[in-house]
Amino acid sequence: MAIRVHNTLTRSKEEFVPREPGRVAMYVCGPTVYNHIHIGNARTFLTFDVIRRYLEWRGFDVRFVQNITDVDDKIINRANEEGRTAAQVAEEYTLAFRAAMDALGIRRPTAAPRATETIPAMIDMVKRLIATDHAYVVDGDVYFSVRSFPEYGKLSGRDIDELESGARVDVDERKRDPLDFALWKAAKPGEPHWPSPWGEGRPGWHLECSVMSEAELGLPFDIHGGGSDLVFPHHENEIAQSEAATGKPFARYWLHGGMLQIDSEKMSKSLGNFTLLRDVLEAYPAPVVRLLMLQTHYRSPLDFSADRLAEATSAYERVVTLVRNIRWVHEATATGEGAPVQAREALEAAVDRAREKFVAEMDDDFNTAGGLAALFELAKAANSMLAEHQADLAGPDFDTLGRAEALVVELLGVLGIELPAHSPSAPEYPDDVVALARDLGGYAGSDAQEAVRALLAMRDAARSERNWAAADAVRDGLAMLGFVIEDTPRGARVTYRPKG
Ligand code: AMP
Ligand code: ZN
Repeated sequence: MAIRVHNTLTRSKEEFVPREPGRVAMYVCGPTVYNHIHIGNARTFLTFDVIRRYLEWRGFDVRFVQNITDVDDKIINRANEEGRTAAQVAEEYTLAFRAAMDALGIRRPTAAPRATETIPAMIDMVKRLIATDHAYVVDGDVYFSVRSFPEYGKLSGRDIDELESGARVDVDERKRDPLDFALWKAAKPGEPHWPSPWGEGRPGWHLECSVMSEAELGLPFDIHGGGSDLVFPHHENEIAQSEAATGKPFARYWLHGGMLQIDSEKMSKSLGNFTLLRDVLEAYPAPVVRLLMLQTHYRSPLDFSADRLAEATSAYERVVTLVRNIRWVHEATATGEGAPVQAREALEAAVDRAREKFVAEMDDDFNTAGGLAALFELAKAANSMLAEHQADLAGPDFDTLGRAEALVVELLGVLGIELPAHSPSAPEYPDDVVALARDLGGYAGSDAQEAVRALLAMRDAARSERNWAAADAVRDGLAMLGFVIEDTPRGARVTYRPKG
């Protein structure tokens, strides 16, 4: 079955066929680094992270490029307000962006070029555009002439005249057409600047994406992504510059994500109705935020609210509990007579159906909402098997439950939703083991599961040195907290039996 994607350029769903079998070249416009990103920005970045993960899961080798806009009016303004250099502001928020992406579980790009590192290639493209009369110089500025590119407007589906009457374009006497846009801006006093044939200046925003995508991926590349607010003028301008300069088509599939909204209004810095990603992640774990966002198709608007966060929290807890219970029951239940064969077969069928449905939904323009529904149906089926037949379960039942659990974990993983690490016998270890591991062996972390492993390693080391007193101290300390250590041929096994 083929993957189908909605292409903004053709306004239709098309079969996705990459330019080279098995490989996908993908570009997503990155942030302008003058502030912390808000959850609207995060939604768009999450969308393309999941598309990338899914394509990889389907066997494609994906090259994912995302620029960092580190020179821009907004960065310069902020630097002036704070008495810092634009480079200092850009560096601070580039690091903050990376940290926020890591925290949301968004994988790092294959390449993340910065605008300020690509200036010579940008100057080259401007030169080519001037030489072919697609651009003109006015007082050290260079403008792209939209009338020189007859296809201008093809992405947004409007012609130049329509765009002109619809857009709030500035009336600048020096421009030949109000829609003409800056490729290069002459430096004003106090601004960062680079030498160019037109004098000291800096590149326009649109130009960097044209130059970096071509340098990193070659033309035409497969997927160009961004939020729907970038279709016009940003992406329209990228196409005009690149296709005019190279004579080659620019990007083959244009994918645009819908806007995250608050009270039905687009979240944006300028409206002031924004919530920073890092503030949300202080209160909610990343898997919950991902789950909330992925429950809506990426092209639809998404209303973000406290209620939806609460719903996503309980959905996440449902799968966490299910996976934990399957592992726990397997460990703790003595082998029974076996559940009725129909019950096991029904769960087997649910596993197969869930995988098929997940793939069909995701192949259909990355319908994560449908994919999640498939996954939750399976979770429900596995839960009822556990609830109805817990005392009877036998070997083959555990095999089937294990398949269900493995599929739930695998598919969540495709969506970048991680479950907490589990140890079968220890659903929730008490935090006191961290202190114990600290006291007995200088454990420096804060994770209870890890602390138990560290304690077992200390005990092993003490025993191999015949230091029985130290080994017993570990065992007794753990026993006080409700842990029982059994020595088995495969090493020490620890079981947690909370008291009371
Ligand atoms: P910016 O830094 O404003 O260029 O935005 C970075 C990315 O976030 C772009 O792909 C925008 O389309 C996207 N974006 C901005 N606001 C929202 C929003 N409210 N919902 C979804 N994506 C957004
Ligand atoms: Zn761009």
